[in-house]
Amino acid sequence: MSSILLDSSIDITLPEWLQKCFHSPSPKDRKQGETDLICQAFEFAYDLHEGQYRKSGEPYICHPMAVAGLLRDWGGTAPMIAAGFLHDVVEDTDVTIDEIEQRFGVEVRRLVEGVTKLSKLNFKSKTENQAENFRRMFLAMAQDIRVIVVKLADRLHNMRTLEHLKEEKRRQIALETREIFAPIAQRLGMWRVKSELEDLAFKYIEGEAYQQIVQYVEENETLRQQRFAQSTAILRQRFQQTGIECLEISERSKHLYGIYQKMLMSQKDSQEIYDFAVLRIIVKTNEECYRTLAVVHDIFRPVPGRFSDYIGLPKPNNYQSLHTVVVGTTGKLLEVQIRTLEMDYLAEYGITAYWRLGHLLDFSQLPPQQHQTRQSELAWISQLSTQHNQQKMSEFAWLNDLVACNDDICDATEYIQSIKNDLTMEEIYVFTPKGDLISLPSKSTPIDFAYKIHTNVGNRLVSVKVNGEFASEVAVLSTGDTVEILTDENAEPKLAWIKQVATNKAKNAIRRWYKYQYKSELKAKLLPEYLVPVVTFKFLCIDRIGILKDIIERFYRYKINVQAVRVETNSKGIADIHVSIESKDAEKLNECVREVAKISDILDFRVV
Ligand code: MN
Repeated sequence: MSSILLDSSIDITLPEWLQKCFHSPSPKDRKQGETDLICQAFEFAYDLHEGQYRKSGEPYICHPMAVAGLLRDWGGTAPMIAAGFLHDVVEDTDVTIDEIEQRFGVEVRRLVEGVTKLSKLNFKSKTENQAENFRRMFLAMAQDIRVIVVKLADRLHNMRTLEHLKEEKRRQIALETREIFAPIAQRLGMWRVKSELEDLAFKYIEGEAYQQIVQYVEENETLRQQRFAQSTAILRQRFQQTGIECLEISERSKHLYGIYQKMLMSQKDSQEIYDFAVLRIIVKTNEECYRTLAVVHDIFRPVPGRFSDYIGLPKPNNYQSLHTVVVGTTGKLLEVQIRTLEMDYLAEYGITAYWRLGHLLDFSQLPPQQHQTRQSELAWISQLSTQHNQQKMSEFAWLNDLVACNDDICDATEYIQSIKNDLTMEEIYVFTPKGDLISLPSKSTPIDFAYKIHTNVGNRLVSVKVNGEFASEVAVLSTGDTVEILTDENAEPKLAWIKQVATNKAKNAIRRWYKYQYKSELKAKLLPEYLVPVVTFKFLCIDRIGILKDIIERFYRYKINVQAVRVETNSKGIADIHVSIESKDAEKLNECVREVAKISDILDFRVV
């Protein structure tokens, strides 16, 4: 037993699960080592954060304790739970990351390191600081996906306690949550976390609309339950007649932000009156899913074009389910989801589903709403899932794409914009001629497809076939298209493609190709001293709206006076921008020009 229980100075109430850790039954317990790690991490963090308080007035330790609790609920292993306790100590106390490793091992170190932000002093601007932190986080994620799960637990608890911060800060954190963390949770298949993050962000970004929707949902609750009882009765009866073994029928309101988005959409298309609820049917096998669909479509009239088979074609985050929209008992449109228990579990908890199962094998810790009949099913799934686990972890290819941005995009603002774009884009699925499934963001073209296959396929593209017919390389692809790329050794990417492609991967590859073509000796470009007070730089760049502003802005940031600007654009879409500058400080000027050269549309520059 640990010393802390004897220590009367402890001024917080420990959650039950943590108390249990301290009262862990016998030293022979095979989980003893894990329990010790958790207890020690708590004690260490408790001592270090002592005397620190959150904006809410609570002792600071309440935050890491809540984060560790979330990680435990999600089935995190002992090192993850320990990292939950320790995630803020390097940032907020004098402890170094090496000390964390000495005390808790390399695994805990890596997790804590991945979520620790860099000191703000190292950076010139807030944006740069933010970009660098994201870059580090994505790199750490690519090495160990659990880093982001720790980060999501941290963010979720911060969002739950956001009301204590100032208005401006609240908004900023809420926006970042909506644009980056909720999409990440979605990519990891963590639907529950994603929905809660989105709802909380919604509350702080569009407060008024949020309140209206809360009210709307409350007012309609009784009606919704009545409708649900009706539909369930009809369905249950038919399942009995057809011999389908239905484990569960449940209905829930869509999450608040989801309703809001649907409402905005239906303002454009007011013919659809939506029931903002989802009816979920859980059956035993894949085959029964399809039989159930047949029954549902037989009872309720389906809405054309609204059926999706994510069992046959799972989403990239491994989500599986049948979706359909039908006309419900009251004439309103009703969304129906049909899936097996395993699919349901994966859909709710995503990447953490399997950890959770492994962790909760005795099932005594399952939340009460998951009633008894589920337990035997889950035991069976967890047996299957152990081998599955490793394989699933490596399937997050999108992560590599995010990290890949690193090498190509040096400018902080662009980097943040590009990860936001990458994370929030809707996806389509197309096929290679051999029938392999490739996922791409919506509005992708065959060029995007080619670069997704390989940079050389993109660079050497001469013509394309979509569904067997020759097509334009900039045609917008749709789900189900089969795409074939014809290449030629001597082909070159066209500059105009940059504005027509949808993926950053393709954009960056085309830029890189052009940069390479224009590459000249960097050393010669920066002068040690300027003999004249006015120097003119010539920037060779890919022409686009705003490029001039981006260049001038950087000189302005360095407080360097721009005397004259001249722009010449050629028909190939390349612009020569001459900027004359007055500066006596060669070092500052060199530094500034290097900064300008980081703008990814700049191919080359020289002093003229
Ligand atoms: Mn934190």
